[in-house]
Amino acid sequence: MSKPISGGCACGAIRYECSAEPMMSGHCQCRDCQRHSGAGHFSAFAVPKAALKIAGQLKFYTSKADSGNIVHRGFCPTCGSAVVANNSGMPELSALAAASLDDPSVFKPGMVVFTASAQPWDYIDPKLPAFPGMPPMPNA
Ligand SMILES: [Zn+2]
Ligand SMILES: [Zn+2]
Repeated sequence: MSKPISGGCACGAIRYECSAEPMMSGHCQCRDCQRHSGAGHFSAFAVPKAALKIAGQLKFYTSKADSGNIVHRGFCPTCGSAVVANNSGMPELSALAAASLDDPSVFKPGMVVFTASAQPWDYIDPKLPAFPGMPPMPNA
């Protein structure tokens, strides 16, 4: 992706810029992501928190993920757009919603996770590496 990577919510109250390449990217089919996105999966890419600047006031919803980690999902209180998710299992990363990008076509999904709760109508590229739950962590 060319940098800075920029995006925001539908109404423009939340804007972000990131100066680093994504560390990982993909689709999550867990039930929480389905509810959060209103669709069969949530598409996101993770960037180092240190390289991410968010302007505007997000509202956060906190829940326990299927993995047992705590997830803080940040959305715009005005338009409701999903923007960012912070997972206690990856404290130095923030996951940004692929659809929040100013140019969402630059998103390159690398995997699909939590396929155990995939919906039969949610078609995902069968060539992507797929994991029934959490993927193996890079440094775990
Ligand atoms: Zn908004
Ligand atoms: Zn998920």
